[in-house]
Amino acid sequence: MLVVEDEERLSRIVEEGLAADGIDVDIEHDGRAGLWRAIEGRYDAIVLDVMLPGRNGYEICRELRTAEIWTPILMLTAKDGEFDEAEALDTGADDFLRKPFSFVVLSARLRALVRRGSPAGPTVLSCGSLRLDPATSIVTRDDVEIELTRREYAVLETLLRAGGAAVSRQDILDTVWGMDDEPASNVVEVYVRYLRQKIDEPFDPPIITTVRGVGYRLVADDTAVARSESA
Ligand code: CA
Repeated sequence: MLVVEDEERLSRIVEEGLAADGIDVDIEHDGRAGLWRAIEGRYDAIVLDVMLPGRNGYEICRELRTAEIWTPILMLTAKDGEFDEAEALDTGADDFLRKPFSFVVLSARLRALVRRGSPAGPTVLSCGSLRLDPATSIVTRDDVEIELTRREYAVLETLLRAGGAAVSRQDILDTVWGMDDEPASNVVEVYVRYLRQKIDEPFDPPIITTVRGVGYRLVADDTAVARSESA
């Protein structure tokens, strides 16, 4: 577990209590150091105080979720009122505990969180034998890992999220290039060509289909679907 809590007495009580339960604990007293640890380390859960020097708990939580790190987070809220707790959940925390709390309750909540795993984690997107895991950003086809650039990945994710429906070039442009200054007018076509070279040409049959006058959609071939279902 990682515990990010600046009150030394409280963090010591939590550390000693968890250690007595046989749990390995890392403690950070500063928000910046806590965020760094949470990104670098592999923890089963994080206990995160809201009011911290450096970065506050909400910011840390939001940054972790934006970075697609889905470690379960129990947030410690100090102030009274629902606002704090709603904000904790909005920023991606899985649970919260209001101070002051008893260690027994903290320990029980943490065990429940770890048992539940990371429900905030996105599910794997797939089409036939093509798979994209948003949690790890790994793309595979026929279990072969495919290296994509950031833009190629974003175009593919946009098509996968449409679930087989056609996506217009404009929608792809808006989703992937967003507010960028005037991308080249054929940029979507260019990136779809790159994608085809990587995910279709080395495999069979092609998945990316051109919908004339509209854009693109992904089509799963029957054999690939059958194969992935029986796996
Ligand atoms: Ca604090």
